[in-house]
Amino acid sequence: MSQALNVEEIFASKVFTLGKMKERLPRSVYKEVKKIMEQGGELSPSAADVVAKAMKDWAVENGATHYTHWFQPLTGITAEKHDAFVTHPDEEGKMLMEFSGKELIKGEPDASSFPSGGLRATFEARGYTVWDITSPAFLKEDAVGVILCIPTAFCSYTGEALDKKTPLLRSMEAISQQALRIVRLFGNTEATKVVASVGPEQEYFLVDRAKYLQREDLIFTGRTLFGAPAPKGQELEDHYFGTIRERIGSYMKDLNIELWKLGVTAKTQHNEVAPAQHELAPIYETANIAVDHNQLIMETMKKVAGRHGLTCLLHEKPFAGVNGSGKHDNWSLGTDNGVNMLDPGDTPNENIQFLLVLACIMKAVDTHADLLRQSAADVGNDHRLGANEAPPAIISIFLGEQLEDVVKQLVETGEAAHLLEGGKLETGVSTLTDLEKDATDRNRTSPFAFTGNKFEFRMVGSADSIGSPNTTLNAIVAEAFCEAADILEQAEDFELAVHDLIKEYMTKYQRIVFNGDGYSDEWVAEAARRGLPNIKSMVEAAATLTTEKAVKLFEKFGIFTKVELESREEVTYETYSKSINIEALTMIDMAKKQILPAVIKYTKSLADTVIAVKEAGADASVQTELLNEISAKLAEAKSALVKLEKAGKEAADISDIKKQAFFYKDVVFAAMEELRTPVDQLEMLVDKEVWPVPTYGDLIFEV
Ligand code: ADP
Ligand code: MG
Repeated sequence: MSQALNVEEIFASKVFTLGKMKERLPRSVYKEVKKIMEQGGELSPSAADVVAKAMKDWAVENGATHYTHWFQPLTGITAEKHDAFVTHPDEEGKMLMEFSGKELIKGEPDASSFPSGGLRATFEARGYTVWDITSPAFLKEDAVGVILCIPTAFCSYTGEALDKKTPLLRSMEAISQQALRIVRLFGNTEATKVVASVGPEQEYFLVDRAKYLQREDLIFTGRTLFGAPAPKGQELEDHYFGTIRERIGSYMKDLNIELWKLGVTAKTQHNEVAPAQHELAPIYETANIAVDHNQLIMETMKKVAGRHGLTCLLHEKPFAGVNGSGKHDNWSLGTDNGVNMLDPGDTPNENIQFLLVLACIMKAVDTHADLLRQSAADVGNDHRLGANEAPPAIISIFLGEQLEDVVKQLVETGEAAHLLEGGKLETGVSTLTDLEKDATDRNRTSPFAFTGNKFEFRMVGSADSIGSPNTTLNAIVAEAFCEAADILEQAEDFELAVHDLIKEYMTKYQRIVFNGDGYSDEWVAEAARRGLPNIKSMVEAAATLTTEKAVKLFEKFGIFTKVELESREEVTYETYSKSINIEALTMIDMAKKQILPAVIKYTKSLADTVIAVKEAGADASVQTELLNEISAKLAEAKSALVKLEKAGKEAADISDIKKQAFFYKDVVFAAMEELRTPVDQLEMLVDKEVWPVPTYGDLIFEV
């Protein structure tokens, strides 16, 4: 029997929770902190000193030696720079660990070394990190020791956001203000704010670390750049929800414990569709904290893997031919007096507030489908979106039968008089309870699906921050709410006006609703007929950030300035080019130094065999045929390699960053595919013993 684990006790043991503040802070300071957390505002310098001291004392009691402002630059991952609590010793040589309010509130990392899209040149490198009081500080413990991590926003000297958190916080304020206007219209006078809640389901792969270390492509790029399919893939559907193997199970157990200590509510775990693929979902929470926690989940997944001799791959497409990984971003809006604005209740057809919210979301998603698509764009996700396993690159909304029927009635008649009911689920077994059926089946192929009391945005990449998608969601829905409130607040007859508006929006934006198979070719054609954008790649999506429509939206709610949007577009191009360049160089390196030499050696031994067999007077036709086949593929691979090298050099010489990114996508990436094809064929032709790197079979079936 394993020892009982006291989850209640370890939960949040490494977090400086509100509870710990209550214990350790003077009442007045605690109240000040709590008020700012809930309502915004600035902590007074004297209170900040008190909080800093309490935080430091707690951290030091728990073994901390350093603190860091933990932030989320545009690299998509987190950044930290450690400072010890050490101070100048007194004349007797005694040193006292200290941490001031100033140090808590503000940090000054060099901003020029992070992607800024031209916002920060090296000669004007100043950037600030600012304490985010709404996300609790926590302790990270690893080989470096124990570090107090303070979640912060990161901005430039002139106040431009250089990170994923600042715009998210701005968007949360925007959606709160606009959503409040909507609930007020329906007589809710108690709510003081509306909170966007997010529950991200995180997919990941685990591979054996020793094998991982034998593959340069996994090390440098996170995905396999070569690799013939294993004889078995995911066709038997035996991995999804399958029994969790011992090694993986002990990893999951450790992972949960580490996450619980960090206050992350790791809740659900299961095997995913592809071999070696798994998923973890926490319980949903405030968007800002969900984003921070998702970063911690990703970091912890990687860290814990090391302890089990495993490596966690978060890339969206580590292996060709089997499913890639994504993140399902579950999103809803709740008032602080307990109303989920996305809860349709038992009779959605009569729930006017819900129908208005739904109509506004239809409007928001249709109007800004391009931006939503962009918010889920990252280099790895280009392999996934539209590739018959993940949502297509086309944004549409799945409402389910019941709501779709309500929308249809409203569009046709302005009334939704009846409701499709779920009915009973009969199993045909007398000992099994008959269940109430949901009125709606699930749809796994939709990028934006209504799932009962929330929307599930399924496009997000597994390695990406969920900051951008939630910023965009909040922004576009805030805009729709604002426009609706502008009209309805002025209406003489509210009842009439709201009915008209719901009908108008649902009619106008109905084209965004699609309940069918999002993976089918028919949908691509149908979506084109409907005029819905189909943005296939990250580089094509980048320009959507700076359209007039986008600038107007984000500036209106103070989420991004035009300059910030331009910088983000630029960062997208740079990131893309750099990533593809690394992939191309890695491919060249592997092909040149590992694969081609191995194949050449093999042809030599085959040739020797041919000669020997012939000399012995036997028929060497099979050996000769194989030798010819391999030699032909080898020649193909060699010429593709030369072509790729040439394309890479050409790309490097392009000075316009947008043109360069498109060149990487259209020319370099295509050349990479051309090299991969003959190499993968060679893998199938030569002796396994001579293949220089672990195969797909080794990697995903032998974990
Ligand atoms: P699925 O069946 O889609 O795989 P999971 O249970 O794996 O569902 O994940 C669902 C996620 O949605 C969880 O993180 C859950 O906490 C979250 N969720 C549930 N209700 C809401 C809500 N109202 N708002 C936001 N997220 C929610
Ligand atoms: Mg799930």
